Amino acid sequence: MATVLEGTKIEEKKLQSLIESAIDRALIDGALMRTKENPGSSVVVNHSPFALFPSVVPQSLMEKAKGIQKSFNLLMHRVSHDHHFLEQALQNVIKVDDFTRRLWNIYNTVREEGFKQPVSLGLFRNDFMMDTKKVERNEDCSLSQIGENAQLKQIEFNTIASSFAGLVGALSDVHRYTIAKSKVKYTKNQLPGNDPALGLCRGMVKAWQHYGNKNAAILFVSSVPERNRMDHIWMEKKISDIDLSIDVVYCNLSSLSSNMSLSPDKKLFVNNAEIAVVYYREGYSPDHYPSQKEWDARLTIERSKAIKCPTIQYQLAGTKKIQQELARHGAVEKFLSDEKEANKIRTVFAGQYSLDLNPDGDRNAEMAINNPGDYVLKPQREGGGNNHYDDEIKTLLSDLKNDEARAGYILMEKIYPWVQKNYLIKVGESSVLREVVSEIGVYGTILGSADDVLENEEVGHLMRTKFLGVNEGGVNTGYSCLDTPFLIE
Ligand code: ADP
Ligand code: MG
Repeated sequence: MATVLEGTKIEEKKLQSLIESAIDRALIDGALMRTKENPGSSVVVNHSPFALFPSVVPQSLMEKAKGIQKSFNLLMHRVSHDHHFLEQALQNVIKVDDFTRRLWNIYNTVREEGFKQPVSLGLFRNDFMMDTKKVERNEDCSLSQIGENAQLKQIEFNTIASSFAGLVGALSDVHRYTIAKSKVKYTKNQLPGNDPALGLCRGMVKAWQHYGNKNAAILFVSSVPERNRMDHIWMEKKISDIDLSIDVVYCNLSSLSSNMSLSPDKKLFVNNAEIAVVYYREGYSPDHYPSQKEWDARLTIERSKAIKCPTIQYQLAGTKKIQQELARHGAVEKFLSDEKEANKIRTVFAGQYSLDLNPDGDRNAEMAINNPGDYVLKPQREGGGNNHYDDEIKTLLSDLKNDEARAGYILMEKIYPWVQKNYLIKVGESSVLREVVSEIGVYGTILGSADDVLENEEVGHLMRTKFLGVNEGGVNTGYSCLDTPFLIE
């Protein structure tokens, strides 16, 4: 079974002491989360869940994931500016999915009024798994044999609130420590440096500079209470590492409705501070809009001159439905004229199928009902815990036969990620060596208008690792642990 510890034995007593010192290390490095019991407290924090050792990733897969990020950034940027494509792709979803429809209505209102800020900022994260469906999975396979045959497959592209860039940067030091203490032989390149929060914040500062008012602040739209607050604080810190003069203000959507105003020339003010950039860390889930006032706040922001990260059209471009539509033959090529880049993107797509109420959708639904274990059924939601698996797929799709609500979902081929072994360190749980699977994320930034791209970068990576057999993902939701890659040839 693949593990970075291959050939290295750790005695139980030594292991317990290593876990304790790794936790201490995570605490001083700042891989922190607020607690479930006290999510609003600024004095009670704990370490975020993390994998004791980094997980093995073939260097070629990591290079591929990072190498296509700029093309993906550009693809999603262009998709978000193509009104016709968005409308065609989302028309059946917005008929049946209230949340997407409300986002769409804001987009349409602002589009008809005319966008007051042509430039948008994308702080994206592209998530992948290492698919081993085509690999002979027997115990005798060496790491490099499996690695050579594992394929990089995209899980989803996040355009809003791409998180953990701060916490994962802090974890690099923890993993250098645990690897060294366990006497695993490695070279420096196998644990690559990683500071995605700094890269994302460089994008944010570029947007702030583009706005052009040195006295204007950056607004973090952030839930209260928020367990992942420390990841936001990391972002704030990285902004000040770049330029100490930039003010960051925090506010949630509910409070913004009373704190915020627009000047006649559409400048955005929060408590009298002019806002240059709006960075959303909430707003991606219906739970963030408990009443009309949160929707009104969102509309006000979209109407403003502030640079939005993301704009409402980036958020729409990040829906599962758009991902499925981009997997159609020729769709990527419509946006990227470079055939080689379009091909590279296409190779990471898993099978994705529409469930619109037409003969094609009927066939796809039938295919999933007959073999539910081969698919994941996804609604238009973000943040983990929303997908359907196995018998649930069968029941749901049978119930939705002839129901337009089916078009609110998409069907995705199930990925069978490379199984490794690791210790997952979670507060209040004991850690034993267990089978785990990982998801790789690559962060990217893009700043530009419909016609002009000013910045386009790949800025670092994330790994999240969970026990084998757990369907869902997400660190906030408690399924996954933070992790980093250990690269092998
Ligand atoms: P969300 O927006 O909720 O994060 P995702 O599409 O990322 O939605 O799905 C959540 C989790 O479900 C992922 O982190 C991954 O662990 C699992 N998952 C999603 N799609 C697949 C797939 N095609 N095959 C296997 N697991 C998947
Ligand atoms: Mg996800």
